[in-house]
Amino acid sequence: MFEQFDLDSELLANVKALGYKKPTSIQELVIPKAMTGKDILASAPTGTGKTAAFLLPIAQHLLDYPRTKPGFPRVLILTPTRELAIQIGEDSENLTKLSKIKTGVITGGVNYGSHNDILNSTTDILVATPGRLLEYIENEQFDAREIEILVLDEADRMLDLGFSEAINRIVGEARWRKQTMLFSATLESTGVIRFAKEVLTEPEFLEATPSRKEKAKIHQWLHLADSATHKLDLLVNTLKQEGVNRTVVFANKRETVQYLSGKLYAEELPCVWLEGKMPQDKRNQAIERFKNGEVKVLVATDVAARGLDIDDITHVINFDMPRQVDIYVHRIGRTGRAGSKGTAISLIEAHDMGVIGKIERYQNERLQRRVISELRPKNKEAKVASKKAKVKRTTSQKKAKAKKQIKTKVKKSKS
Ligand code: AMP
Repeated sequence: MFEQFDLDSELLANVKALGYKKPTSIQELVIPKAMTGKDILASAPTGTGKTAAFLLPIAQHLLDYPRTKPGFPRVLILTPTRELAIQIGEDSENLTKLSKIKTGVITGGVNYGSHNDILNSTTDILVATPGRLLEYIENEQFDAREIEILVLDEADRMLDLGFSEAINRIVGEARWRKQTMLFSATLESTGVIRFAKEVLTEPEFLEATPSRKEKAKIHQWLHLADSATHKLDLLVNTLKQEGVNRTVVFANKRETVQYLSGKLYAEELPCVWLEGKMPQDKRNQAIERFKNGEVKVLVATDVAARGLDIDDITHVINFDMPRQVDIYVHRIGRTGRAGSKGTAISLIEAHDMGVIGKIERYQNERLQRRVISELRPKNKEAKVASKKAKVKRTTSQKKAKAKKQIKTKVKKSKS
């Protein structure tokens, strides 16, 4: 129940209006701790409800300590992509409805002048991508010294996208802040740990362990394939099945995205595709056609799909397997949102078995193998070490180690 938190009734009413019945596991963990003003280091992939986990304590802080004079934003949320920024901006507006709290969004990919309104009027919560915000800071159009709470959302992605210098500069500008919260899909990369050590002070280490029910929302299985052509046949067959409605197909290369789109059209499976360097209007058009149901398949690379936030995705299909576990977690987190059921299907060849082993160790469970009888693979599955006892120990040991590492590093930085 959201009533267990010390939130104003207007916030509770907004939560109710959004249809959230009970807090997700990350919300249970983060909300009470964040409300004490402590720094937060949380591992929470997209789709776990992390946005409300930081927005609700922020809104409560702004209600408890209302602004006494106009000025620059008091809360800054940095996020890797434009789409994600817009999404968080919308969530913020919805959660603070009926209050005086103002939210603004600043991102690249739009005209420089279009942010004048936000820069020149009083905004309380600013959601921004680091590159464009830094430009405004450098041009002295924005002052980060009034920031009280800083959120670094999807910190791992921001670092992957090469924003570390921009973020460091912004973090330095916001040095008078009282609280910093860092969210990352996983906390196992050394880059994120090092970064956390620099920006956080004695953080609470919080890790979402989705309940069985939350976890069960995404069914994961895989199909073994003998070749890329076999994968294509499996993909086409799957997309033609009943119930496979709103589907995102992931490929690792731009060329594969184009190749697949062509093949799907030839099979009378209309689709839209996204690639990294697409003009914004084309990208928006493609997303809109997918969102409004005109086409039911979207093909993309990870880079192109960054920040894409669409509810009701029924299936995620990995035409190519990602090479890292956190990218897999991020991809499949696009389905099974907001309480609905989702399915993640991976089409794999022998050379993907290594990453499958890693995913199974990370999740501590074996992914189900499935076969489509008319497309049965000829080759047998390549072996990976997957002894259950070993799997269990390795995952928990790894997590304990990462936690310890962060704690000692933070301690050291304090001393
Ligand atoms: P996020 O991980 O913040 O991107 O949230 C994923 C999705 O879950 C969004 O569509 C949210 O609107 C939704 N959501 C967040 N919190 C809850 C909740 N407590 N109950 C149901 N849905 C939620």
